[in-house]
Amino acid sequence: MKTRTIAILGATGSIGTQALDIVRRYPGQFRADCLTAHSASEKLFALVREFRPAVAALAVEPAEIPEDLRFCQWFFGPDSTVRALIASKCQDALCAIVGIAGLDAVWHALDVCERVLLANKEALVTGGDLVMKKAAEGGIPMLPVDSEHSAIFQCLQARQGNPVKRLLLTCSGGALRDWKREAIYNATVRDVLAHPTWNMGGKITVDCASMVNKGLEIIEAHHLFNMPAEKIDVVVHPQSVIHSMVEFEDGAVLAQLGMPDMRGPIGYAMGYPNRLPYDARPLDFAALGHLDFAAPDLDRFPCLGMAIEALKAGGSAPVILNGANEVAVSAFLREQIPFGRISQIIDAALQSVPVSPIASIADVYAADAAAREAAQQTIRRL
Ligand code: NAD
Ligand code: MG
Repeated sequence: MKTRTIAILGATGSIGTQALDIVRRYPGQFRADCLTAHSASEKLFALVREFRPAVAALAVEPAEIPEDLRFCQWFFGPDSTVRALIASKCQDALCAIVGIAGLDAVWHALDVCERVLLANKEALVTGGDLVMKKAAEGGIPMLPVDSEHSAIFQCLQARQGNPVKRLLLTCSGGALRDWKREAIYNATVRDVLAHPTWNMGGKITVDCASMVNKGLEIIEAHHLFNMPAEKIDVVVHPQSVIHSMVEFEDGAVLAQLGMPDMRGPIGYAMGYPNRLPYDARPLDFAALGHLDFAAPDLDRFPCLGMAIEALKAGGSAPVILNGANEVAVSAFLREQIPFGRISQIIDAALQSVPVSPIASIADVYAADAAAREAAQQTIRRL
């Protein structure tokens, strides 16, 4: 098998390091020729030392590049990810930057790569229509890495031209799943970062606790699979063993199952259409005994409802939701606001920033800036 070159954008993160674990297992199949990160220079140095990419980038320039790492071409600064990706000429890009900060990388990956492996859901939440149109026009496959979307993508392999009745996204419920409303409001950073089933980056773990993550995933699924909001449902499933499901017109429901381990969906996207064995824990149904399901509680987790409404409203509404959420989550992680304020900040931005059409990436960034400003104002008023 020929070696594929892959750019790991966000190499030091939760998704990036797990993708590199797959690269490590299949050195003949993948060459990680471009590794990028924001500011975690020591972590990136260690990865560059191990994987020896042709190109590397840090958004925040370090004081010095160690002498033994000067063999590779380095890029620094806010647009360093994109410049590194272009210089690397990698065949695949794993887009694993967190937030709208990763949109530019996805956009340019569609110009220069053969395939885009997408973890960065915020790129679709904000630029979804434009990104999917560009991917379709360029004939570039967008392979989902998010576990729910990978599950749906896998189930859809059995579609054989049949219409889909409904997508069912499963949801662990996050760290606060069984908490009472007042307790949720005052949940600490420590409470929220204790995710029951997945070990992920800080921002997405907070998003899981507020359940805005599932809302972002509904919007992501809408774009990836061209499904209207009305045909995408959420079911709370605490064990995270069923990763998501597809219902067909005859009532048949196909599900994809596995122990929760992101290397499953990451490896599926990397190897597609081939499956890449790793040291996955096998599913032991007898040991599991039962799988549980419940409807999501939109009263205790209002962010989910807001995301669904934003998708239905269209235009810049999802960009506003996302931008306000990013500001609120970082304020929460800095212990500047209580957890319960996150939903209030998003709601205030959605109420105050007018929804406008999105015709270009510049429109996306304008709506994002307006949402961030509105969110900052709400925080200053609190
Ligand atoms: P993380 O915070 O662990 O890692 C983020 C990576 O992006 C880091 O390498 C960081 O250096 C880089 N980065 C951050 N801001 C940047 C910027 N402005 N410029 C350049 N690089 C920047 O995040 P994560 O948990 O790996 O999540 C990455 C993406 O994947 C998110 O969009 C998340 O929603 C999605 N995702 C993650 C998981 C998971 O299990 N972690 C699961 C599904 C989807
Ligand atoms: Mg997910």
